[in-house]
Amino acid sequence: MTAVRDLYTAAGLAELWQQQFADLPFEAVIKQDILRQGLSFTAAALDATDFKKKDYFIFTFDRAPLKEIPEHTRVPEEIRIFTDAQVTGVAELKPTVISVRLNPASPYTVSRDAAGRLVLIQGDTVMAQVLYPPIPEYYKESYSFDKPIGEVAPAIEWGYLIYLTVFRNCQYFGKDEECQFCDINHNWRQQKREGRPYTGVKDPAHIIEALERIAATDATAQAFTITGGSVTGKLSGKDEVEFYLQYPRAMSDKLKERFISKMVIQAWQMDDCRKAVDAGVKIYHPNYEVWDAELFRKICPGKERFIGRDNWISRVVASADIFGAQHVIPNFVGGVEMADGVGFTDEDRAVASTCEGLDFFMSKGIVPRFTTWCPEPFTPLGESAPPPLTYYLKLLRNYRAIHRKYALPVPPGYGEAGVGKAVFSVSAFMDVL
Ligand code: SF4
Repeated sequence: MTAVRDLYTAAGLAELWQQQFADLPFEAVIKQDILRQGLSFTAAALDATDFKKKDYFIFTFDRAPLKEIPEHTRVPEEIRIFTDAQVTGVAELKPTVISVRLNPASPYTVSRDAAGRLVLIQGDTVMAQVLYPPIPEYYKESYSFDKPIGEVAPAIEWGYLIYLTVFRNCQYFGKDEECQFCDINHNWRQQKREGRPYTGVKDPAHIIEALERIAATDATAQAFTITGGSVTGKLSGKDEVEFYLQYPRAMSDKLKERFISKMVIQAWQMDDCRKAVDAGVKIYHPNYEVWDAELFRKICPGKERFIGRDNWISRVVASADIFGAQHVIPNFVGGVEMADGVGFTDEDRAVASTCEGLDFFMSKGIVPRFTTWCPEPFTPLGESAPPPLTYYLKLLRNYRAIHRKYALPVPPGYGEAGVGKAVFSVSAFMDVL
């Protein structure tokens, strides 16, 4: 059974919003609650097949082992919830995109109502209608490689982002080195056990073939992210810089102009950042994961040992001179600083610590983003309950306030911001800007 913390009824959720967080959109409240608690689906909700399925593009982002959720091969990548005259819910909801994180014990279920509509249910209350993402046209094409296209170049964020996990493992290996929240290596093992064609290292030629087809057939995809695990030694005879830069270097200028090119990698030295810019990388994500220095040491032991937290932070800051501050977007894992037995027990102290980091970066024109921590099984922190919902709502409120204080632009490469428009699916930061 997955751990839970502070469950709300549908009415209780609306009351919390009205009484304490009315300055945030209700869409952000429900999105954060679904992201931290996960979702389940009834059989009726999965009887259709014409939607884009969850591709397990890097992590599982599930709250249970795959073998305990056999429907994981048939669920959508995301859901889009909304209310209208037919389904009014407990409060009005503009269309809101939310990543699917499976949890059989979640209070949220997608089902069908008596009229056959897909609906989101919490307890006995129907909260919203539900849409599943369309299958991109390029998923229907054939390719020279014998792998599913969703394995080579999966689409997420309602088709906006192509997610290129070119290395499916991480060389920070085992509990003394892996980031304690990360299931990249566990996901790999689970997927292989399930018999999926999970490619460890992707062939640059396959990536380019896929991107060229996407460019020719798809107007929704606007960006791609090249990423994967860290390379601390050699991979295919290359060090981390040469391994990851082989992908953008192999692309034509036309492809790099067609898409916003993003890369999630470690905090590199300046000469290596210059090489990335020369290769055509526009947006750099050197993810710092958690701000508090002591927690960074405990939660990211591999990164601490190989690069070190202070070094990591100073490299992020220095990279703004190379990419331009607004193109440096380091991620943190929102909520991991409250992991049971390791992190803060007081949510206000957790929010204050994280906001210290936000203020530090935003004062320099660097806008971090955050994902919502999913305590995944098999990870050292996987037994923890998710953080309280009020932690996330306070974080969102403060994130927006600091962003406004420094009058910063919306981070590029995430599509439109705002309620009803945002497609970033793993936290509500774009919904509240
Ligand atoms: S560096 Fe950390 S977060 Fe990134 S893939 Fe490796 S273990 Fe996971």
